[in-house]
Amino acid sequence: MEYYSGHIGKLIEELSKLPSIGQKTATRLAFSIIQMPPEQAHALADSITAARDNLHFCKECFNICDSEICPICANSKRNHKQIMVVESPRDLAAYEKTKQYQGVYHVLHGVIAPLLGVGPSDIKLKELMVRLQGDVDEVIIATNASHEGEATAMLISKYVKPSGIKVSRIASGVPVGSEIELIDEMTLKRALDGRTEL
Ligand code: ZN
Repeated sequence: MEYYSGHIGKLIEELSKLPSIGQKTATRLAFSIIQMPPEQAHALADSITAARDNLHFCKECFNICDSEICPICANSKRNHKQIMVVESPRDLAAYEKTKQYQGVYHVLHGVIAPLLGVGPSDIKLKELMVRLQGDVDEVIIATNASHEGEATAMLISKYVKPSGIKVSRIASGVPVGSEIELIDEMTLKRALDGRTEL
């Protein structure tokens, strides 16, 4: 880093802390930032500060939002009796993009991963149970089809079932255009379990 001035060196160092940004990419980004018109560079810096300082979680679903309640929870046209449980705000966004789901969400902010020391109290599970004391008909568990995602889904289902609320798990089937023989066992099992009548 001694080839560059202290300020540029610092910028490269900070950028290289981002996921999947190595030293080379960080250097390239740093130089493109310092070559920007000053207003553009300031706008970039300000947007980082504003996004970080105004980070709020929705009081209902724990999605990231700018206000107390996110636009989805605030929307009276959504079905508030149907809650889809997702791992992260990015997963929520992925489902929203499909425009197929009309219920509301619950963002766990992670999954249970005992090997990494992540237990049930480290994710928003207790908060989900509190929500279920309200008027809820169905919980759709949409955690990822990883081992941790599956284990988390099983645990949620175990917690929810005694309440009499319907619990379902999204079917993660065979990806479109893929060959069955190349698909792992868990995906195939889920595809079979989640089959629908034709
Ligand atoms: Zn919300």
